[in-house]
Amino acid sequence: MNIYPCQCGNTLHFENSSCVNCHREVGWCPSCEGIRSLNPLDEHTYSCGNCQATLTKCANYRDYQVCNRCVVVTTTWQQADAYCDCCSLNRIVPDMSVPGNQEKWYKLEAAKRRLLYTLDILGLPYGSVYSGFSLPLIFDFKGDVVLTTQAGTDAIIAEKVFTGHADGTITINIEEADPVEREKLRVDFGESHRTLIGHFHHEIGHYYWQLLVQYRCEEECKAVFGDHTAVDYVIAMNQYYQQGPKPDWALRYISAYASMHPWEDFAETFRAYLEMITILDTAENVNLLLEEEESVDFRGTPFDKLLLNYEQLGIKLNEMNRTMGLLDVVPEVFNAAIVQKMKFIHKLVKQGRSMKKEVKRATVLA
Ligand SMILES: [Zn+2]
Ligand SMILES: [Zn+2]
Ligand SMILES: [Zn+2]
Ligand SMILES: [Zn+2]
Repeated sequence: MNIYPCQCGNTLHFENSSCVNCHREVGWCPSCEGIRSLNPLDEHTYSCGNCQATLTKCANYRDYQVCNRCVVVTTTWQQADAYCDCCSLNRIVPDMSVPGNQEKWYKLEAAKRRLLYTLDILGLPYGSVYSGFSLPLIFDFKGDVVLTTQAGTDAIIAEKVFTGHADGTITINIEEADPVEREKLRVDFGESHRTLIGHFHHEIGHYYWQLLVQYRCEEECKAVFGDHTAVDYVIAMNQYYQQGPKPDWALRYISAYASMHPWEDFAETFRAYLEMITILDTAENVNLLLEEEESVDFRGTPFDKLLLNYEQLGIKLNEMNRTMGLLDVVPEVFNAAIVQKMKFIHKLVKQGRSMKKEVKRATVLA
């Protein structure tokens, strides 16, 4: 992740919608690709403080303050609802009549934008349903359906929403945006981390399995992650939740959850790979890498070099966090079995990058 200069000289961050110094509104300019100050032209349009492009706020920014992106105003724009490149991937969004949902949706969108930023720096392909992309990427943010009960009795969940991926659709249970609920689950499942961005990094792994592995290099993938057709997914899942992870999971898997099924192993390894990329990218942008660690080029630097930089940085970041009594930033140990899996993902990302971008991501005018 990068940080951006405001017109006034102050530093702007990826999630900002106003500058704390000059109080200008700010937002992502798709034209010069950065968080920029927005200078009002009229009620609905702004001039980018950096490239002077004429912009309007994404409808989810304007109406709900859950987005901070803008859309370039074109000659055909007629003050209709315009959704940014990130929001145009949404299909189901939280019910805004429910108290607390605006805050949850805001957190979900912020994590989603970070995910898409990382996919973009890697050059990975994806597209919305409106773009005609072969496997459209869709987000459903849904809450459990809870039956109203008489005071004093427990609420009954009529329909439980499971966070997961199916055929390009990533569903996130919006309760994951509640830090208390999420921490409870983290402790119950014995996880080293449980974050919203972590969910996105994991689920997008399933998406890329379908886009880049299925019918393309399944045999190669089986050789590294095990045969996904040999183990029934539902049986493996039930076994995992009833009996816990394989006792020796740390020798072969990036996390306990990864030991459940080859598909989960792939998604967990993909998550760990994206975490490596996003941490190295941020470290470089905020000048945290030492000289000998050199600058990282995700498209050219060999995997071993990336991992070495990441491990060296991870040791320092973990110590910083321990100083403050926080969880380790990089809790994983990268043994030979895990490195082999990460290398497979690295190669796959390279293949994904070279895959012809079938249709460029499009802005939607609804
Ligand atoms: Zn400013
Ligand atoms: Zn601009
Ligand atoms: Zn938006
Ligand atoms: Zn999964």
